[in-house]
Amino acid sequence: AHLAQIDAREGEVHAFNLVLADEARARAAEIDDMVTVGRDPGLLAGVPVALKDNMCTRGVPTTCSSKILDGWKPPYDATVVTRLAEAGAVTIGKTNLDEFAMGSSTENSAFGPTYNPRDLSRVPGGSSGGSAAAVAAEFAPVSLGSDTGGSIRQPAALCGVVGVKPTYGSVSRLGLIAFGSSLDQIGPFAHTVADAALTLEAISGHDAGDSTSIQQGPLDLTRQLEFGVAGLRIGRITDLPEGASPDVQERLEVAFDTLRSAGAEIVDVEVPAFGYGLTAYYLIAPAEASSNLARFDGVRFGHRVDAADTNSMYMATRTDGFGAEVKRRIMLGTYALSAGYYDAYYGRAQKVRRLIANDFAAAYAKADVLLTPASPTVAFEVGDKSSDPLAMYLCDTYTIPSNLTGDPGMSVPFGTGEHGLPVGVQILAPALKDPVMFQAAHVLE
Ligand code: GLN
Repeated sequence: AHLAQIDAREGEVHAFNLVLADEARARAAEIDDMVTVGRDPGLLAGVPVALKDNMCTRGVPTTCSSKILDGWKPPYDATVVTRLAEAGAVTIGKTNLDEFAMGSSTENSAFGPTYNPRDLSRVPGGSSGGSAAAVAAEFAPVSLGSDTGGSIRQPAALCGVVGVKPTYGSVSRLGLIAFGSSLDQIGPFAHTVADAALTLEAISGHDAGDSTSIQQGPLDLTRQLEFGVAGLRIGRITDLPEGASPDVQERLEVAFDTLRSAGAEIVDVEVPAFGYGLTAYYLIAPAEASSNLARFDGVRFGHRVDAADTNSMYMATRTDGFGAEVKRRIMLGTYALSAGYYDAYYGRAQKVRRLIANDFAAAYAKADVLLTPASPTVAFEVGDKSSDPLAMYLCDTYTIPSNLTGDPGMSVPFGTGEHGLPVGVQILAPALKDPVMFQAAHVLE
């Protein structure tokens, strides 16, 4: 059924870089056989899953939607891919993204933009726009994305699906092609909070192959879904940065009312450094990216432009292989890390990061979870912000702080705003309190 839906709508949505139709059919038949002979086929038996194309799949092209990885096939699977396979899931394809996950609209792809299935003249958000669109268009019931500054939560909001960035370290990053290693986190998209919980349970838990992986078992989420919010303290951030449009603010108010009616207590909290998140992020994330992307040199992976000597080959390959936004990040990051500027930019941004974490810790002493908009606006038109990087960066104002702190966050679809387009409400929680975040999310469904 999902392959038929892909046949019907993929031409207009362009959620995928690669559809693995034959492989998916063969894998589904294997799962059927397991059931026939009475073997346990796993938690996600037969469930089609779409994977963001920055997660390594053995022998299957993995592009990061960049020309520079052209022709490269990873020799190994990402840990999440192995875990999904062990759970009986069926990989249905690799989804489009902003090149190397840098962007908020999925327009910065070497393979062209993805369109929002709810309104094809609009963006699906980004950078995991392909994975969000794949679920919204019913190409797969669940998908995986990665979130460095909001790349799961913002597209989830714009496409009207659930999107989760779990606690940093709860899902292995082994085989996720790195953007900002201290910020990157894999998480699920789904139609329901329960489906997202199940998928996250299947992929989370310690992995010795990732040095930042937390030493604990899979997240325990589904059992707690029905606990409700009675007695829970929901924080309203009184000094939240401005910029959310009136329709989004209105939905947020309705969300507070809904939780209050369900027995939660709404408490006011302050997070004074919240608004510095964006600035700190645009030093830290490019700094880490400039280092992580140094490996794409024409020698080890994919694309190469031949030249007279090695240095010229590096330069020609990187000039031709990377898109404009990736080059901008590499230059910003290299500058922020260079001798004489390191302390003033990167070092200072790391201090701001600590301030933000301290402010959140103080807020979480008063509230169990916090509620904010996920995205400042509903989905914008294709081309609207593509020539204005700063306008694009502002899309992540509300999502970035929890990447800097490592805390979990998720976006839940909560009605519609302008033009009848979906609005997402973001729920934030302290590290490892993902189950409480899911409890609140389930009440908002
Ligand atoms: N939009 C942000 C950026 O461009 C976040 C991207 C992400 O979370 N991968 O960096």
